[in-house]
Amino acid sequence: MRTVYVNGDYLPETEATVSIFDRGFLMADGVYEVTSVLDGKLIDFEGHAVRLERSLKELDMTAPVTKDELLEIHRELVRVNEIDEGLIYLQITRGAPADRDFAFPDPDTTPSTIVLFTQNKPGLADSQAAKKGMKVISIDDLRWGRRDIKTVQLLYPSMGKMMAKKSDADDAWMVQDGFVTEGTSNNAYIVKGNKIITRALSNDILHGITRAAVLRFAREAQMEVEERNFTIDEAKEADEAFITSASTFVMPVVEIDGIAVGDGTPGRVAPRLREIYLDESRKAAV
Ligand code: PLP
Repeated sequence: MRTVYVNGDYLPETEATVSIFDRGFLMADGVYEVTSVLDGKLIDFEGHAVRLERSLKELDMTAPVTKDELLEIHRELVRVNEIDEGLIYLQITRGAPADRDFAFPDPDTTPSTIVLFTQNKPGLADSQAAKKGMKVISIDDLRWGRRDIKTVQLLYPSMGKMMAKKSDADDAWMVQDGFVTEGTSNNAYIVKGNKIITRALSNDILHGITRAAVLRFAREAQMEVEERNFTIDEAKEADEAFITSASTFVMPVVEIDGIAVGDGTPGRVAPRLREIYLDESRKAAV
């Protein structure tokens, strides 16, 4: 049984509760972060903490804990749950006012709700899926216009995952006005020659913490990076494709809409970037 964190308390998961009036439950009025754990240490914690602050600010929400407290809670959960490899999920909502109302409650009388729990994932780094590569399908991007804020409105991405499953694929890449935005829970990339191509940051995509680190490592390794839009047809004709996220690190994409990317194997660039990312982020883990 896991120990989870809810509003200041460490509790067995079966005893942790949140009000039915919580705005996270009623209105998806909340933000989240997912931080990976390798060797019992937090990967890219600083980046996730900074993005969380930004998400909260964009939604006029107040942080219930400081960054130092947040780090302490993450570490305590890793310790008590004995996580060597896995994930830590964090969610903050606008809290539970006395009644349902579209207007935001007064933060002085309605404190935000904070919940964290661990997910044990042995083999996260040494993943079989990374050796094989994954298959994606393309779908219309029907999400709202502020995808740069990491909100818990994940119904459409969840539907996208199910559409992929039905097509015997692993994930869906979303397409808006002819261009790929991102995967359901990851950033999307293609490789042409030695060039890594990925959509530039804007409100259209989540500003991935893994994306930032991987692009930095790629540039440091003298790889060329181009931040621009690409179409799904360009992706199908690319030499390689891959995704990044805190839970998959760097994961090759070997098939798009049933068409093999390159020779249908993970290729050269994505596996190398995965190795560099895992090495470097392990060294910097806290
Ligand atoms: N894009 C979307 C839509 C996501 O949901 C996520 C992660 O959940 C990402 C990209 C990758 O972000 P990160 O690397 O910070 O995990």
